[in-house]
Amino acid sequence: MTMTRAPAAQAGLNKYDTGKPCKNGHRAMRYTQSGTCEGCLRASQQRAQAVHAAGAPERAARKQFALHVVSVAERVPDAQLGSLQTMAEALLSCRFPSLAGLVEFRCNPRPCKAVSGTIQATFLVHVEDRQAFHGLCDNALRAASMIDAHGLAARMESVQ
Ligand SMILES: [Zn+2]
Repeated sequence: MTMTRAPAAQAGLNKYDTGKPCKNGHRAMRYTQSGTCEGCLRASQQRAQAVHAAGAPERAARKQFALHVVSVAERVPDAQLGSLQTMAEALLSCRFPSLAGLVEFRCNPRPCKAVSGTIQATFLVHVEDRQAFHGLCDNALRAASMIDAHGLAARMESVQ
């Protein structure tokens, strides 16, 4: 039995059949309360689900980021701070390619002077890269101190 919304409401029906397709071409029942077609409602629920599902990988990646990325303090040569920051950022981009540009990969350096020529700086690092990154900083320090030693030797020679 086909009817319009008002009589359906008067009859206390929760859905009614107009006998005509909706503006989107659905031949479906309408909800008395809103006049919405069941087909339209289903379509909009499916769209909402698709949007939600599309955001799921990003939400998962953000969760992993929050769980596994730590800030570590390393003593590094002054001159290497920039390249080590870039290195730390690159390591995070490899771990979380989908978050590049969405999440801050770079820790505010807040460097503080330690021994001359070196600074203590904070980096964001994935826990599994912590060891490797520490190694990079160590190598940078060792290389810098070798250069210093050479420079010192050269200076001592020139004094003699
Ligand atoms: Zn419809």
